Amino acid sequence: MTSLHDVGEKLPPQKAPAIDRERFMAGLATDLHAGCQSGTLTALILVDIFRLRHINNRFGYETGDSVLAWVYEALCAGVKKASVIRRLDGNVFGISVPEMKSPRLLPVAAGKIQQLLNRPISCHEDEIRLDCSVSITVGPDYGHTEHRLLLHAEQCLERAKQDGSRCYVVEALDEENRIGEWELRDELNKAVGSGELKLYYQPKISLANFMPTACEALMRWDSEKLGRVGPDQFIPVAERTGQILDLSEWAILTLPREARHIRYRNQALNVALNLSPRDLSAGHLQSTLESALNIWEMPREKLTLEITESTLMDNPQQSQELMQNLRNRGYRLSIDDFGTGYSSMSYFKLIPAHEIKIDKYFIQNLVHDRGDQIIVKAVIAIAHHFNMKTVAEGVEDEATLKLLMKMKCDYAQGYYFSRPLVGEEFQQWLEGYSMARYFSPQEKQLARRKAAND
Ligand code: C2E
Ligand code: MG
Ligand code: MG
Repeated sequence: MTSLHDVGEKLPPQKAPAIDRERFMAGLATDLHAGCQSGTLTALILVDIFRLRHINNRFGYETGDSVLAWVYEALCAGVKKASVIRRLDGNVFGISVPEMKSPRLLPVAAGKIQQLLNRPISCHEDEIRLDCSVSITVGPDYGHTEHRLLLHAEQCLERAKQDGSRCYVVEALDEENRIGEWELRDELNKAVGSGELKLYYQPKISLANFMPTACEALMRWDSEKLGRVGPDQFIPVAERTGQILDLSEWAILTLPREARHIRYRNQALNVALNLSPRDLSAGHLQSTLESALNIWEMPREKLTLEITESTLMDNPQQSQELMQNLRNRGYRLSIDDFGTGYSSMSYFKLIPAHEIKIDKYFIQNLVHDRGDQIIVKAVIAIAHHFNMKTVAEGVEDEATLKLLMKMKCDYAQGYYFSRPLVGEEFQQWLEGYSMARYFSPQEKQLARRKAAND
């Protein structure tokens, strides 16, 4: 490896380093594997050089090639702990740094790389100053295979470019959490295909006709080793590691098969499935969903896709396009946990959803909290203005239900009606459902009159 060129040093003519993705992926895989054995981290650094085309146009391709060679040498000299550095495509370099004990220094490393590449290079009579974006992610926390980790690093790079910061470094998990997560992640790998996962169902009660016309499928995991693990624990880990794609695929294949048996008064219910934007942008999951619906003859309008508001906000424009695309294909869309993602009210106008689910955070103290009442009322009014239905989650008592009815909420979901139940138990619950238990004869009459007027 040659040493770094001095500041302003003349750029010697050199061949561009070859694009060698294959060798890089093999090196990264070896580092990840060794890291898992020794309990250390592997950092994956991506460096994206801007305006290479501009350099090619202005100074010619030979200069462009020499610049790429200069960058490669600078990286080799500057990132001494790297096991492999390769050019991954036209203007992106990948660096794998194995056996890291602590992620504390990652932000410093990112700054150092930017500084290293920002030095002036003199070329003919001119001076070139490069500009770059850097992303750093760590495995196995954010990807336990080389492909998953690279995918995550590319997403981080995209983020660095879009938010203008030019630098995105993940926050690695602390030691204790990481050990817990590794065990969870390994067990989760076994869960898919071993029968440890199940879908439970919870009714959504229509406040127009008081019938359980819809339900939500919620994943449950009974791990042989860890016992019952809640989705609040394993879904975020699966999102980070990319295992969510396998879990979602399992849910997509399971749901239409089970949903055939879920009926109320002989009518199929609308069933909601929780998905993340990452699932939806994975093309293969969309086609798996389509085939599963076809095989089990489940019409698209009987399925609702619930997507959490906070994940949509990670990339609002891309999410909006994705949702519009799904809507055009006939899917019913719901924004989950509304109110927790800090989206602005103008978001209502942009997002092509059919339904808003008001987070239980605003519902659980609704009867006593004037502030929550104002928020919930406003959300319902605005949602209706944009032709969206509203669902209140976390309804636990009669007083809350009655207040939501007064506020013209469209659906209620919560323990007051039922906890999530496994398929057969849920069907039994539907068969035993009695409107009279929850709604008075006057309320029923009022609803009937309203339905007749509509
Ligand atoms: P979520 O989609 O907002 O689901 C509603 C959560 O509220 C469920 O928790 C449900 O059991 C709980 N809940 C319902 N009624 C009440 C109530 O009256 N009181 C209280 N305190 N809680 C109530 P759960 O099943 O633990 O799921 C937690 C989260 O995990 C879900 O929130 C969803 O974001 C995620 N999740 C669950 N299943 C899946 C899945 O299949 N795929 C994906 N991507 N995420 C899932
Ligand atoms: Mg949900
Ligand atoms: Mg929710």
